[in-house]
Amino acid sequence: MGKPTGFMEFQRQLPADRSPLERIDDWHEFHDHLSVDTLREQGGRCMDCGIPFCHTGTLISGMASGCPLNNLIPEWNDLVYRGLWQEALERLHKTNNFPEFTGRVCPAPCEGSCVLGITNPPVTIKNIECSIVDRGFAEGWVMAEPPEKRSGKKVAVIGSGPAGLACAAQLNRAGHWVTVYERADRIGGLLMYGIPNMKLDKSLVQRRVDQLAEEGVRFVTNTAVGTDVSASRLREEFDALVLCCGATKPRNFPIEGRDLEGIHFAMEFLHANTKSLLDSEHADGAYISATDKHVIVIGGGDTGTDCVGTSMRHKCKSLTQFEILPRPPDERQTDNPWPEWPRIFRVDYGQEEAQARFGADPRVFLIQTEKFVGNENGRVKELHTVEVEWTKNENGAFIPKNIPGTEKVWPADLVLLAMGFLGPEDPILEELGVERDGRSNVSAEYGTYATSVEGVFAAGDARRGQSLVVWALHEGRSAARECDRYLMGRTDLP
Ligand SMILES: Cc1cc2nc3c(=O)[nH]c(=O)nc-3n(C[C@H](O)[C@H](O)[C@H](O)COP(=O)(O)OP(=O)(O)OC[C@H]3O[C@@H](n4cnc5c(N)ncnc54)[C@H](O)[C@@H]3O)c2cc1C
Ligand code: SF4
Repeated sequence: MGKPTGFMEFQRQLPADRSPLERIDDWHEFHDHLSVDTLREQGGRCMDCGIPFCHTGTLISGMASGCPLNNLIPEWNDLVYRGLWQEALERLHKTNNFPEFTGRVCPAPCEGSCVLGITNPPVTIKNIECSIVDRGFAEGWVMAEPPEKRSGKKVAVIGSGPAGLACAAQLNRAGHWVTVYERADRIGGLLMYGIPNMKLDKSLVQRRVDQLAEEGVRFVTNTAVGTDVSASRLREEFDALVLCCGATKPRNFPIEGRDLEGIHFAMEFLHANTKSLLDSEHADGAYISATDKHVIVIGGGDTGTDCVGTSMRHKCKSLTQFEILPRPPDERQTDNPWPEWPRIFRVDYGQEEAQARFGADPRVFLIQTEKFVGNENGRVKELHTVEVEWTKNENGAFIPKNIPGTEKVWPADLVLLAMGFLGPEDPILEELGVERDGRSNVSAEYGTYATSVEGVFAAGDARRGQSLVVWALHEGRSAARECDRYLMGRTDLP
């Protein structure tokens, strides 16, 4: 432990973000780093707990508690306190291939389970993680490390999101020839085309892709397996396949008026926006514009927040975000004790920006949309809603019940549906004939990652459903280990 009394001497500190009104004028990241001296103090707050809950990575009440990658958090906290940054980077890379991604976008279940958090604000783990790897790149400590020997085996990874990239990195490290197939024109999955640039700069994604390419991973873009190239052909050409194709099928909202123009799935909006930004800084106009529009986002999760942040940068006229669930409490409730992930009210970056621009948090809780109404040109012009309360039905399940007399009409020119995802898309899975689980995800047991088809593995959202980057990295790494075991009869991968 760096400083035994650090947790009593230093308060938790986070770097100041750029102000919301300034940052909505551009697409750059808005988080900064603390100074090296302050980071040292923050690392010194870590108590090097006998049982470091921060790195346990278990599921409690269905939510991650501690880091799913089992990051060696107390060790690098101590190394940062002692000024041993390069050693801290080595420890970080032992468990996490891409800490610059998690250090930016992870909700940090590690901090939710930090022991210090029982009585005080937890250690600033995520910020320290991000600072270590950013410094590593700045100092030139992160370099391509191609394997010394090749096994002669060939593996195809389908999908280039965090699961596919982590899987490819590990299999390549084990000496196999890896080819990553991606149907989009750029590599990165939701790191590239889901999470917007202001949260994760795309040059950072490309930097890792370039590193992997230099290490020997082959990338094939604009190629949908199951459509552009058959999965059976890949099975013949490769010794194993790993499905990392995400859970990209969006949940629809088939109420009256759904077919009107101006109603889009969130991913149509987000993908086109980032592509146009990267292709031409929006000069090509090939995106769905929120400029001067009344925007309504339906869905209160991460995807909804990214629609809010993106609409703010387009300079929308107004912004409202609907959530059917109740507003979470400000503090942990007794049925949500430490070390569970705290289910509390949070103001994310998009809501902070809408509040700064329009004077109020954009979220409306306990609300249900009943229909969309259009104008004479078939374009959406308003949403009709009703407030709901959650009551138990005869089977004891909570269901939303409309409250009569609370009907309301909202003007809307653009509606973005961010209501979750329903598992992976069908063509490739149908062609391979892999079994699906009850939620239509690929059926592959956690720990073995083997599907019902010999030599075909699955990892990330494709296996567990829409989740988090950190779980995708964990599963990509673990599936690589099991694939390596399958190919070689043994494995040294962690
Ligand atoms: C808008 C949005 C914001 C999010 N924000 C966060 C966040 O802030 N923090 C966080 O931790 N998580 C976030 N998530 C969740 C996180 O991005 C995902 O859990 C994670 O990316 C899953 O990784 P994956 O590799 O399994 O799949 P994906 O990232 O979805 O990648 C799958 C890839 O497979 C490709 N593909 C699919 N089918 C084929 C095929 N047949 N042939 C070739 N390629 C194919 C897809 O094009 C895609 O590129 C967010 C999700 C969304 C939608
Ligand atoms: S739980 Fe918190 S205080 Fe304990 S080792 Fe982990 S980061 Fe340090």
